[in-house]
Amino acid sequence: MYPTCKALCFLHGIPYQPYLCSQFSAAYNIYLEIFHSVDKHLRAALNHDTPNWCLLNSCPACFYKLQDEPALQFDWLVSIDGNNSLKHWDSTIYGTTARIDSRKAHSDYWIGPTAVDQFKGEVKAQEDSSPDDWQDEPVEANQGSLTCVTRWRNAGPETRKKMFSVFHESGIFIAACRHRFVLLACNMIRSGELAKYPLALIDKLLTVYGKNGACAYDIGCAFSKTLRNSSLGPRASELNFWMMVGAFHGHAHNCKCQLAWHPMYIPGTGHSEGEGCEHIFSASNELARSTRHASPFHWHQTIKEYFTFWDADKYAVLCV
Ligand SMILES: [Zn+2]
Ligand SMILES: [Zn+2]
Repeated sequence: MYPTCKALCFLHGIPYQPYLCSQFSAAYNIYLEIFHSVDKHLRAALNHDTPNWCLLNSCPACFYKLQDEPALQFDWLVSIDGNNSLKHWDSTIYGTTARIDSRKAHSDYWIGPTAVDQFKGEVKAQEDSSPDDWQDEPVEANQGSLTCVTRWRNAGPETRKKMFSVFHESGIFIAACRHRFVLLACNMIRSGELAKYPLALIDKLLTVYGKNGACAYDIGCAFSKTLRNSSLGPRASELNFWMMVGAFHGHAHNCKCQLAWHPMYIPGTGHSEGEGCEHIFSASNELARSTRHASPFHWHQTIKEYFTFWDADKYAVLCV
């Protein structure tokens, strides 16, 4: 808000005053609220307000099936990943009391903390006394002895997936289709990349998209075991759901792992590299400077608006 407001002051030839920024922020909130109300009416008139409409229609290339269309190996292929750049400062960290803010950003992407916490504790806490030092694991000289669980921090024990206590939201976890449309997102709250985040997203994806799906995750190899042992396991195998490791991350896994999990060796993946989330994050990381100390409402609103624009942009270039 601040730079935009300063630019406007410059264009109008007036000195910047802090109250102008508050007024500009309030006007923007109202603009979005009006926009949302008009959009709601339009959706109702066009019959676009049915459950999961956005998930089922955001990417026509993935989810608009034609009659008698030849079946693909995977009916749907998504990638999932977490990102810590969009961390959000906890306003109560210095003993201050946060102002009550009942506003909620409207969003079709978000899965709420209650739905995510259904999968809390699905992975049995493993005994691990190592400190959480936020350093990469040292690479052993003998690459052959490495297992994916020791090499990748997010594949390690849940007790090590901690986050600095100054942050309330430690980042976001998202799912994207192979054309990089954002499908789902959830907040990672006061933790590292716990298993409950991917499990909650996969639960929703399986419910909406059904059978013959596949999902790339940078620790897909280790996570498939977590998924199998979770309450989602029987449903995932019944729906013939596949996990794989994205092509970029896959090259950092050991050779044996790649043979089983790298998209290069999985028929039906085509040119999809399974790294859609990295593309999204490389752009959304720009938001960090304006969201880190924002109010929870503005943090959510900014990310949601950014993803909406990102999806509109992807929609526009689908036919290019
Ligand atoms: Zn692996
Ligand atoms: Zn798609």
